[in-house]
Amino acid sequence: MTIPSAIHPLKIPFEIIDPTGASVPRFVYAYLIYGEEITLIDSGVASSERIIFDHLRETGRSPEEISRLILTHAHPDHMGAARAVKEASGCSVACHPADKGWIEDAGQQLADRPVPGFWDLVAGSVGVDEELVDGDRIDLGGGQDLEVIHTPGHSSGSISLWMAEGGALFSADAIPLARGMPIYDDVLSSVRSIQRLRGIEGVRVLLSAWDEPRFGEEARRIMDEGLRHLQRIHAVVIRAAGSAPSPDKMEICRRTVQELGLPEAMANPLNCRSFISSLRHLDRSDLLRG
Ligand SMILES: [Zn+2]
Repeated sequence: MTIPSAIHPLKIPFEIIDPTGASVPRFVYAYLIYGEEITLIDSGVASSERIIFDHLRETGRSPEEISRLILTHAHPDHMGAARAVKEASGCSVACHPADKGWIEDAGQQLADRPVPGFWDLVAGSVGVDEELVDGDRIDLGGGQDLEVIHTPGHSSGSISLWMAEGGALFSADAIPLARGMPIYDDVLSSVRSIQRLRGIEGVRVLLSAWDEPRFGEEARRIMDEGLRHLQRIHAVVIRAAGSAPSPDKMEICRRTVQELGLPEAMANPLNCRSFISSLRHLDRSDLLRG
């Protein structure tokens, strides 16, 4: 199986600063969709426009042909270069209303969700021209369209995009990798969002932001693994909260990290935010049912 020829995945490398101050190599995928006009799904971190524009020129297209930038959510590695892309191309910027505030005011995003090295990853705020909600269809021309699927959990305004023609599902950060650190605002919403994506018939390729393209059965396996991973974390957090001598959130986080066998440095505020969301669902020991 192959990726539909109109879709150009761009793997963008960057670095983050971990809680010990060390630099950690990461990557994020952005996607160009070629048609009469060009649609860009996510912009990558600050300065990623160079990689995006180089690819356009190498393939005989130009940055000015980007008519729309869809931001799957507000996080730095998705909106970091959005302002530069918009300035160079004159494109419109679209996102879900629940993440719009953090895109239009990056300083507020940093205040609400302190990511180390934030301003190395984000070149600035960008104005949003179009709000996308569940069920919206984005016409790509040539008989192709993208359906917007609201997949909250990773962030409240996270969206996935379904291109039925070609069976391509763009899931951004909605599906955590079993080997990775899950980042989410709400564990139950994350589970429900993945279950919804898992129910889509005809997925031939899963195009996420933090994984290689996954085809056919493998795409479904990745979704199942993501679900099991969230359930395991949820069970561990509930146990850790029960055995902690005080309801201190960082202490619950430390115990969770320990029991999951993760490096101690993972007991940081960003991951704590994810873990603690399980405490809102203490009445549900099995998130995958119901
Ligand atoms: Zn994200």
